[in-house]
Parts: sequence; C-alpha cells; structure tokens
Amino acid sequence: SPSIGVFALQGDVREHLRALGDLGVPAFTVRRPEELERCDALVLPGGESTTMYKLARSFDLFEPLAARIHGGMPTFGTCAGMIMLADRIEDGIAGQETLGGLDITVRRNAFGRQVDSFEGDIEFDGFSEPVHAVFIRAPWVETLGPDVQPLATIPSGEAAGRIVAVRQGNLMATSFHPEVGSDDRIHRYFVDLVKQS
Ligand code: GLN
Repeated sequence: SPSIGVFALQGDVREHLRALGDLGVPAFTVRRPEELERCDALVLPGGESTTMYKLARSFDLFEPLAARIHGGMPTFGTCAGMIMLADRIEDGIAGQETLGGLDITVRRNAFGRQVDSFEGDIEFDGFSEPVHAVFIRAPWVETLGPDVQPLATIPSGEAAGRIVAVRQGNLMATSFHPEVGSDDRIHRYFVDLVKQS
C-alpha cells in the first residue's frame, strides 16, 4: 500500500494517523526532510496555519514540502491544512506564507465569532449520503480557479453556498475535519486518489 505521511510539526496528527490506519493504510509522521522523502502522499492536518508555516520554516521542511506538492505529490489538507495548500489567503497574519498548489483564495476564520465552531450535514460530491462535518475556526474558499473542482458547499444559513471542500488534480482540501469522528469516506476518497495517481 502507498506510503502516506502526516505533517506532524503541529496539528491534529493523531486523528489522521488513526483514520488512515483504520482504512488499512498505516501512515507515519513527517517532521524531517528525510521522512518527507519516504512519502508517496501527504496529509496536512488541522491546527494553526500561522504556527505551521513558521515551524515548517524552522525545521527546513517548507521548501521541500512546497517542491513535492508542486511536483504532483498527492496531498490532502484539512482546515489549517487547506490554508497551507491555498495559493492565496485573506485574513492571514502579516507575512503569513502558504505552501500553495491549490488555485484558491481561502478566508481564514471565515465563519465569524458567533458560529466559529459548528457541525452540520453537507453533501459531498459523489457520496450518496451526506457527511457530518465538524468546523473549528474554519476557513472557506473565497475564490477558485478554473481547474479547481468544488466538492462540498454549506447548504443553508448565512454561509449558504460557501465552498468548503475542493480538489485540483492530486490535491484536495476540506475546511472541516473528517479526521474527527468515524466517517471514513473522505479519507477513503483520498486513498483512492493516491492509488490512482
Ligand atoms: N483557524 C486556524 C488557522 O487559521 C484553522 C483552524 C483549524 O485547523 N481547525 O490555521
């Protein structure tokens, strides 16, 4: 089975390791360039994107990560991981860098204070049953380029129509956290993408 790493300098690493392990695809942590070299594919977890890019810089992972991602390595980002994959950010901190790769603009902490964390059922492209999505100070996709496919949007309420999952080639991202809970379909979707690539 493919060798999938989870970026592990910050974020909810364990949840992704468990989700992948439960699918029979044991994953390993990536904190050093040598570990990245062993990866066929990578997960960028949820957490804090401002901390992630700084740590990636300090640990000399930023450039190698960007190179692998732009070189076509299948990569799945959740929440802060989506921000890390975005080519452009709104409401980032001054100087905040991303690895890029996805031709999207994300808005950080987009859902605002009152509903900054919430859960809800959303349709996900190709799934017959909705996904129960957990949003924690989540971004949304503000704009997307022509090669980016939206996979899920907020169904109702003030944020109705906002895009919260996308795919572009070997890259995919969700602004919610499929690694939290027991629904394995989105990780399975990623593992299928990895196997096909
Ligand atoms: N708000 C966080 C950020 O900007 C993302 C939150 C999350 O990953 N749950 O990175």
